Amino acid sequence: METTGVVIPLPWQGIGLTDTGLVRTSNQDAFALQNHLGLWAIADGMGGHAGGSLASQIAVESTVDHIRSAYESLSNAENQSATAIRLLMEATQNGHAAIRQRASANPDLTGMGTTVVIALYCPARSQVAVAHVGDSRAYLIRNGSLRLLTADHSLVQRLVAEGQITAEEALTHPQQNILLRALGADDQAAPDIHLHTLEREDMILLCTDGLTKTTPEEQILATILANRMTPLKACQDLIELANTHGGKDNTTVVLISPSYQPIDRAGV
Ligand code: CA
Repeated sequence: METTGVVIPLPWQGIGLTDTGLVRTSNQDAFALQNHLGLWAIADGMGGHAGGSLASQIAVESTVDHIRSAYESLSNAENQSATAIRLLMEATQNGHAAIRQRASANPDLTGMGTTVVIALYCPARSQVAVAHVGDSRAYLIRNGSLRLLTADHSLVQRLVAEGQITAEEALTHPQQNILLRALGADDQAAPDIHLHTLEREDMILLCTDGLTKTTPEEQILATILANRMTPLKACQDLIELANTHGGKDNTTVVLISPSYQPIDRAGV
C-alpha cells in the first residue's frame, strides 16, 4: 500500500472576476460560477438604459436555471456529451426568448442583447461542451500554449476569415464591435457548440472582449502560466492588464482549473 501523499483530481473549479474598467460608468457583463454543476458562463450585454446589464443577467440566469433543472438527466445520460449539447442549445434559446420577451414589454429595453459563452463539464469522458454566441471567448491552456476554442460571431472575424483584413487589422478596425449574432437579436442567436476532451493539466479561460480587444494573447497566456496554482491571482492580474491597456470596456474573466487535493492513500 502506498504511504506517500498523492494528488487526485477533483471536479474542475472555476473562479472569476468582473470589472467596470476605467471609462464606462456601468458594468454590463455578467458571469456565473456553478462548480458543483461543472457549469460556468459569461455574458456581455449591449443596449441603452439598463438593457445591456439586464440582457447579460437574463442570459446567465436562464442558463444556470436550465442546466440546474436538467442536471439529473445529464448525470444519468448514456451519452452525456450529446445531452450537454442539447441542454446548452435549449439554455441559449431560453435566454434569447426571455430577453426578447422582456424587451417587447418595455420600450426602454428595445434592442437589448448579449453575447454568451458557456462551458459545461461532462464527467463521464472528461469532456467540456463549449457554447457561444457573439464575441465572448473560450481559450484552452494546454502544455504552455493558448488555443482559441471559439470563433467570434463578428463582422471583423468574417472579414478575417474571408481574407479581406488581417487579424492584426481586426484589432483596430472601426467596426470591430459589430456582432453578427447575439442573444436577443433578430433571428441571429444560434450558438456554436463544440466538445473538447480535457487533459489533466488543462485550464479553460472564458472572457469578454474587454480583455481580448485590449490585451495581446501572449500576455494573457503568460499571466495565466505565472499564476497556475493561484487562479484568483491570475484573474486579478488579467483584469489589471486590461485596465493597464486603457480599460475602455468592462472586463470579465473566468478561469477553470483542475482542483487538486493531497490525500494519504494509506488511510483509505
Ligand atoms: Ca464588452
